[in-house]
Amino acid sequence: MLAKNLPFNKEKLEEICSNHPTPFHIYDEKGMIENAKKFNEAFSWNEGFREFYAIKAAPNPFLMKLLRNQGFGIDCSSMAELLLAEQVGMRGEEIMFTSNDTPAEEYQKAMELGAIINLDDIKHIEYLEEHAGLPELISFRYNPGALKGGNIIIGNPEDSKYGFTREQMFEGYKIAKEKGVKRFGIHTMVASNELDPDYFIETAEIIFDLILDISKELDIKFEFANLGGGIGIPYKSEHKPVDLNRVSEGIKNLYEKLIVANGLHPLKIYFESGRAITGPYGYLVSKVLHIKETYKKYAGLDSCMANLMRPALYGAYHHITVMGKEDQAHKFLYDVTGSLCENNDKFAINRLLPEIHPDDLVVIHDTGAHGHSMGFNYNGKLRSAELLLRENGEVVEIRRAETYDDLFGTLDFDTAANFE
Ligand SMILES: *Cc1c(COP(=O)(O)O)cnc(C)c1O
Repeated sequence: MLAKNLPFNKEKLEEICSNHPTPFHIYDEKGMIENAKKFNEAFSWNEGFREFYAIKAAPNPFLMKLLRNQGFGIDCSSMAELLLAEQVGMRGEEIMFTSNDTPAEEYQKAMELGAIINLDDIKHIEYLEEHAGLPELISFRYNPGALKGGNIIIGNPEDSKYGFTREQMFEGYKIAKEKGVKRFGIHTMVASNELDPDYFIETAEIIFDLILDISKELDIKFEFANLGGGIGIPYKSEHKPVDLNRVSEGIKNLYEKLIVANGLHPLKIYFESGRAITGPYGYLVSKVLHIKETYKKYAGLDSCMANLMRPALYGAYHHITVMGKEDQAHKFLYDVTGSLCENNDKFAINRLLPEIHPDDLVVIHDTGAHGHSMGFNYNGKLRSAELLLRENGEVVEIRRAETYDDLFGTLDFDTAANFE
């Protein structure tokens, strides 16, 4: 098993833990920013290129500010996420609102902020008009159905609840044009955690072809193609990250062939990635509470699936480092567990690790996206703090840990005391 890099060593982590009790998620600012720059550089050929960070992956205003400094927009899909965008001071077309089954208030908020609205259903053209009015710029989410295979997290497009059919795309833009919408964008997202660069090139081809057909038939001009999120990350050390330069090169070739050659230039390329932006730069840090030996060996941590749900939810692999024991033989088979009354509460099953002892510091890798944000409070587990390791080595608490007062804040114990 190959090792995975960490932005801190054991001494540095012990120092951090002396000021911040475990468990916590810690994010690596330097790694995150270098990666954001690489993403922008890869697509610098495309004027107006923009990545809208899918804020659900790590909804923290500090992280959003760092990414906004790199020119990133924000991708929101709920009221809370729109409110967060507003709090960070984001407005207008730096916000993409890609929602589904959307309540009227969320459309009203998105309109108030001037966000780009990306509809998930043809019927929502009328719903939006009725509840919030129609914007000048609109985008629709395309579901290519059988044209494109899916994967385990997102399923097959035909079974997916998202987006318009091909026929609905034509019909939808026609209706929007008739209703006076002036500017048009298009969106699709058919991947999740996909590591094959060709997948994103094929997706671009499907979208460029569709742009060509719709522009011709309806005589409208598209301003942007949003290719969604879904760029995978190498959770396993033997995996390779998606080569963004290769994705970009492939998309550029198609752009010349389909967009430029047909007089459809300029078209801005957008992404709304979450995982690929912050995923590899987050770490869940825990202490070992107990080692248990029954029919198997268990290493019980002071965190649980409420801090990181992906292994229990999808059987997802997250690399684990036992700090200071990186060079020891990984010859002990462990289930690494949390304390929920739920046998699924395991970060790893049958994982070969060095011998673990109580108080060892254990780092679970790649928790920077869909990690803390997927947390929950089952069994009354409190959600952990989030820390940022700054480029200069300083550590900033960017979210405090929950307290029991937070947890019980929605209960009225006084009324309950008098309840017969
Ligand atoms: C979740 C989501 C994303 C981000 O997905 P990643 O896999 O984190 O890149 C982008 N857009 C929409 C609409 C999503 O639901």
